[in-house]
Amino acid sequence: MIDYFPALPPLSDSEQELINLKVDIDSKYKLPKKVTYCTRCVISNQRPRITFDSEGVCSACRYWERKKTLIDWGARERELQDLCDRYRRTDGAFDVLVPSSGGKDSVYVAWELKTKYGMHPLTMTWAPHMYTEIGIRNFQAQVHAGLDNVCYTPNGIVHRKMTRLSTIDIGDPFQPFIYGQTYLPLRVALNYGIELVMDGENGESEYGGDIATESKTGFTPKDAEQFWLSSFPLDHWKKRGFSDRDLEIYRAPDFEKLHKSNVERHFFSYYRDWRPQNHYYYCMENTNFAPNPNGRSEGTFSKYASLDDQIDPYHHYFSLLKFGIARATSDAAHEIREGLLDRDDAVQLVRRYDAERPSEKTTQVFLEYIGLTAGQLEEVMERWRNTRLWTGRGVIAKLNEQVTI
Ligand SMILES: [Zn+2]
Repeated sequence: MIDYFPALPPLSDSEQELINLKVDIDSKYKLPKKVTYCTRCVISNQRPRITFDSEGVCSACRYWERKKTLIDWGARERELQDLCDRYRRTDGAFDVLVPSSGGKDSVYVAWELKTKYGMHPLTMTWAPHMYTEIGIRNFQAQVHAGLDNVCYTPNGIVHRKMTRLSTIDIGDPFQPFIYGQTYLPLRVALNYGIELVMDGENGESEYGGDIATESKTGFTPKDAEQFWLSSFPLDHWKKRGFSDRDLEIYRAPDFEKLHKSNVERHFFSYYRDWRPQNHYYYCMENTNFAPNPNGRSEGTFSKYASLDDQIDPYHHYFSLLKFGIARATSDAAHEIREGLLDRDDAVQLVRRYDAERPSEKTTQVFLEYIGLTAGQLEEVMERWRNTRLWTGRGVIAKLNEQVTI
């Protein structure tokens, strides 16, 4: 038992009704009925918004091809220098905000901006649901390496209730967290008078999504809403009984104020060839980053990505239930594109790790966090199990034959 967790109220009638209501996952996410896999990586066409061309190659693999052949990285570097020249302050004020959990990617961005471009970054952390020990350690490491940081932590009761409802209602515990990732950096930038926000990668291009975003230097709040928040706008929570006070920290910035300001939000991956494994080595060397002490993270073979949140495995597990795609698939696909893994080895890794159930310990923390019993969680998972992809009830036993890669 986590001794500082007050008990959440039991499930409301409407939450219980939702659990019993079957979801048409295929229509909801516009998923193709027949599963096909990219001929180069291990991603399937079940990833929302990904596209495959006539040769069966996914949009992320094509983007990586263009990164190697078409993009003039020298020109992008000059664009980055110009951008920094426009925003750099000489009066000691912070001049760039870097949203950061303390992970290797965002710390790499902040450290490069500080040491190579002479910027004065403020890193901003939207706290994970439940920190892991290695997550806290790496969060502290970035600060002690020499970065200023502000950390925002939402009201625990509200965040836990929202996370429970989000798990039931949209089959993803992470939706409340996504509001903070999307909006809070802009609000903090406005508050501190910082006019440049530098995010890490454009996930739509890097991992497979809408290819129209590829040439964008960054996302506007409208873009972010379209890609990450469209299925669950913030107003939705009011209908579910959350008050304005409850929702304050999740809110969008004041758009009038934002449009009057010069705040711009950019992706570092537009300017730099984005290579997560290099960021790992870079942060080990420069900012005392440490990998997962368990040797690998749950549900995957990798040891250096997304280490900070104890309930993270359930975010990926729900993706597995809905789309048949979880963390090992994403990690392996990315490593193939980076040239670190060949496809045959990647297929073995996906088969070995992708459908791994979150550990007993993770499950216990998740259940206490969202205030469900093990039986109720099984019912919620059953609600989000895509029966076209999976056989077996509750516990996923094996991949249906049609999705074997
Ligand atoms: Zn691919």
